[in-house]
Amino acid sequence: DPTILWFRRDLRLSDQAALIAAAGEGSVVPVYILDDETPKHRAMGAASRWWLHHSLKALDASLREKGSRLILRRGKSDEQLSDIAKECGAERVHALRHYEPWWRNAERAVAKRIDLVLHDGNYLAPPGSITTGTGGQYKIYTPFWRALNGHMPPPDPHRAPAKIDPPARWPKSDTLNDWDLLPTKPNWAKGFDPWTPGEEGAHKQLSRFKRHADDYAETRNLPSEDGSSRLSPHLHFGEVSPAQVWHAVAEEGGSVGTFLGELGWRDYAQNIILQYPDYASKNARDAFDEMPWRSSKVDLRAWQQGRTGYPIVDAGMRQLWATGWMHNRVRMIAASFLIKHLLIDWREGERWFWDCLVDADYGNNAVNWQWTAGTGVDSNMFVRIMAPLTQSPKFDAAGYIRQWVPELAKLDDAAIHDPEDAGCRPRDYPAKIIGHRAARERALAAYRHTK
Ligand code: FAD
Repeated sequence: DPTILWFRRDLRLSDQAALIAAAGEGSVVPVYILDDETPKHRAMGAASRWWLHHSLKALDASLREKGSRLILRRGKSDEQLSDIAKECGAERVHALRHYEPWWRNAERAVAKRIDLVLHDGNYLAPPGSITTGTGGQYKIYTPFWRALNGHMPPPDPHRAPAKIDPPARWPKSDTLNDWDLLPTKPNWAKGFDPWTPGEEGAHKQLSRFKRHADDYAETRNLPSEDGSSRLSPHLHFGEVSPAQVWHAVAEEGGSVGTFLGELGWRDYAQNIILQYPDYASKNARDAFDEMPWRSSKVDLRAWQQGRTGYPIVDAGMRQLWATGWMHNRVRMIAASFLIKHLLIDWREGERWFWDCLVDADYGNNAVNWQWTAGTGVDSNMFVRIMAPLTQSPKFDAAGYIRQWVPELAKLDDAAIHDPEDAGCRPRDYPAKIIGHRAARERALAAYRHTK
């Protein structure tokens, strides 16, 4: 009898423990289920769906090269898997373990219907396995990373099997194009062009990054330079495993510690959502439940559309819309701006990122939003109010602003970070939505309500 291989955010054939286990038992039925019912309002956002479409296409092509194919189904994971098992005579499912609360629910539901074997491999260490001296879970990144790093390097990655045996009869499959994962508007085709979803695209991106990984610690904070790896959507969809990334980068030698530490943040975030499953919707510090957030639709839209009058913020928000990605330093500035300058609940920003990012990740997104807001389990940073107009020249963002805010492209380096103050704001660029000092005072006054 064949074994089912259930793909989710692990769309790769190499270093895929579930595939190795399934192939070791004989013929394999590889399956992807578009399950919008189990996650409910956490169903994938628009940019993620674009990525998924292309990644599934690539995965199917790679499977065909090995004598197999990808079966596509839509609906509740447990119902679909048990139907598929009946259609092809399978009695077991292999899958990599996932940590989003809805995936953990789905795993429990599946296990009630069929033998489900879960494997590790989407994280440097299985989330939950890195414990404190007294056996507890870490809540703070730095000690977590120290402990995780002590278990590194991760195991050597496995190769993909040379051949994957097909079952005697295939279950029925949907057609990818019928899922309508690609947007009708906006037309993202151009901005999204540089991305190549899929395992091959992930490895190309990894080799490109390897060559300059040594400069990462210096260049990663400069939005005008291409200093970071841009592996986030590939890692989110599991097109490359973190162990593969670790070994490829560590091989280069040099100072790659900073980069590996960022990879550690990804593991950390999963450990947090394992402890706090509703981290994307609930303040970890409940004093913030008393925060008098503003509910200005107009201000929220100005932020979403990149029309706040703060060039660095606007450049970031427009890069996000056009490409599905935003530079990390700018994510911090733009998120802080929404929360503190506009005094809008961080959960509004989290939702917008969820819909717009190709790397939208339940754990990473929620952990970073709560960290920026100061509402999280780690540090309370609300009163550390970032000054976007200082950050912008400090991280040399002039080139970045020119690229993403064409109205400002003609301004020189001295004026571009704050054209209003320099007296040369073009007429088609908005005035500042609120002054920095006024925003700061308003935020600190609101914060006093949480005490
Ligand atoms: P690199 O700097 O090359 O880092 C390598 C990898 O490490 C990344 O691909 C990512 O997997 C991981 N990583 C790096 N920084 C972080 C971090 N701070 N937290 C968790 N993992 C990290 N990242 C997401 O993957 N998905 C999200 O939904 C997401 N939302 C964010 C929201 C906010 C408000 C902020 C401030 C950050 C968010 N990040 C998120 C983290 C970070 O911005 C991105 O992972 C990074 O910009 C991706 O680019 P890169 O692959 O070039 O990163």
